[in-house]
Amino acid sequence: MPDAITVGFVPFSTARRGILVVFCDDALKFGPATSKILGRVAGLAGRAAATNQFKGKSCSTLDILAPGGLKASRLIVVGAGKLSALKDEDFLKLGGTAAGKLGASKEPVTIVAELPSGPMEPDQAAALAAGVRLRAYRFDRYKTKKKDGEDTALRGEISLAVGDVGAARKAFAVRAHVVDGVIIARELVNEPPNVLYPEEFARRASRLRKLGIEVEILDVKAMNKLGMGALLGVAQGSARPGRTVIMRWNGSKRGDQPVAFVGKGVCFDTGGISIKSAGSMEDMKGDMGGAACVVGLMHALAARKAKVNAVGAIGLVENMPDGNAQRPGDIVTSMSGQTIEIINTDAEGRLVLADVLWYVAKKFKPKFMVDLATLTGAIMVALGTEYAGLFSNNDELAGRLTEAGLATGERVWRMPLGPEYDKQIDSQFADMKNTGVRHGGSITAAQFLQRFVDGTPWAHLDIAGTAMGAPKTEINQSWSSGYGVRLLDRLVAEHYESKR
Ligand code: MN
Ligand code: ZN
Repeated sequence: MPDAITVGFVPFSTARRGILVVFCDDALKFGPATSKILGRVAGLAGRAAATNQFKGKSCSTLDILAPGGLKASRLIVVGAGKLSALKDEDFLKLGGTAAGKLGASKEPVTIVAELPSGPMEPDQAAALAAGVRLRAYRFDRYKTKKKDGEDTALRGEISLAVGDVGAARKAFAVRAHVVDGVIIARELVNEPPNVLYPEEFARRASRLRKLGIEVEILDVKAMNKLGMGALLGVAQGSARPGRTVIMRWNGSKRGDQPVAFVGKGVCFDTGGISIKSAGSMEDMKGDMGGAACVVGLMHALAARKAKVNAVGAIGLVENMPDGNAQRPGDIVTSMSGQTIEIINTDAEGRLVLADVLWYVAKKFKPKFMVDLATLTGAIMVALGTEYAGLFSNNDELAGRLTEAGLATGERVWRMPLGPEYDKQIDSQFADMKNTGVRHGGSITAAQFLQRFVDGTPWAHLDIAGTAMGAPKTEINQSWSSGYGVRLLDRLVAEHYESKR
């Protein structure tokens, strides 16, 4: 990835010049290597902490300029809070917090990866480094001028001082691929819709071939032949033709059943004939956040050579009002043979996913399918931007996703499914209709999807609140979060890779 920064690892003994970042706990204690580096300045930090009411709380910072007695020009103390409770996600946040304090400085930076309890484990140091990179990402390709002081992008080489340089490097080599995957997903979501339309999205996905991923692109003719009438009904209103992209990573030699990930890729959603109101319609460039996550995830799995067989499948369309657009009242026939009455053309994501889910279930017979979609505004009403909605027909899969969510900080909250909800999408004219009643809208959307999974263990993640426009965090300052890449990479790593 073309990052503006590079992250390297050095031994504790070289941490001296430039900007120095160190960690303390909520008792303002430093680790032994940090104390040695700081020497008598450790006492100065204590006094500065007292005057600044710095208590070492998690992700709080204390900034000391030109600390006398140190060669460093600036000392930044980052609080790690209570040490007993630190999870993987916390190390990402600590790295992100450190990076957030650095600004556009051209000086060398050393981050001392040590806690009061001692050197961070290689994997913890790698998480810290990942947090630095995730925080440093920004999307400013289309800004031709920068106002004074506006360019605060982090640049140059950032060194992490660690106990075991080789082990930290090795751990980060794996993790860096996952960070790349997150950044790929963010980049796709941030791109404007005149640049990123279905064919261009497919072209970008085909870059994954360089990593050994098989990429197959189904054009309109191929999708017609397969009978993908639900997806094509959405696509027909746009001058830009739709595409379905199938990505296959065969990392397990044993002809294992694959795991499968399916993404909604509505490159722009006007609502179609049931057109949306103008307010914030520009955000609908992000209605392909599910597809972006699948591409980022496939990158991560292949680049780190995950020992798993994985399928990624994305349905790419643009939902536009047009003389040829589908109408409310139309009845389309999906690839499964089930017919769908269109009630609202703005409920298009489920129509796209219906055909892609069916295709994947039938063609690959996967161990499970997880789909991701910026599917409903209703999920934001329920969960805000903190959790994605999780719907599943399989308790084991749902439990594993919940665990992976807690570990990575990409959290999910399980929502109900059931026959009472399902019958709300029965139609008087066709097998089903594409919307239910006003209430429980994210649930009836999930019920609709379930009719196309053919009994495959399945989970649906409604990421409308988490993929884009969520509040800025320690590890993300851009509009798009890249949500789901770390979550699903973790799910695969914990449960579905063959051990050899
Ligand atoms: Mn829509
Ligand atoms: Zn949509």
